[in-house]
Amino acid sequence: MKLPRIELYCDTCGSTNIGRDACAHWDVLKQKWVFTDVYDCRWCSDCGSECIEEREYPELEPVHPATSNWDDDRIEHAAAKEGPYY
Ligand SMILES: [Zn+2]
Repeated sequence: MKLPRIELYCDTCGSTNIGRDACAHWDVLKQKWVFTDVYDCRWCSDCGSECIEEREYPELEPVHPATSNWDDDRIEHAAAKEGPYY
């Protein structure tokens, strides 16, 4: 299955070097910064414009099973136990 994704770009200069303000707090259990809020303002780090747009980005190819850490047999068994989907 391919995963859709988007790309943010500057409508003024075409750059994809886009920034956004956010608030983070230190989580002592996770031992890392955790985002608690992401603000609306986005900007181009190259020209300073705030005219940021979104577009589809080429789809990601699935990870080849030989290079994946997932155990495919385990995934299939888990799906079988969940029963049919309607
Ligand atoms: Zn720009």
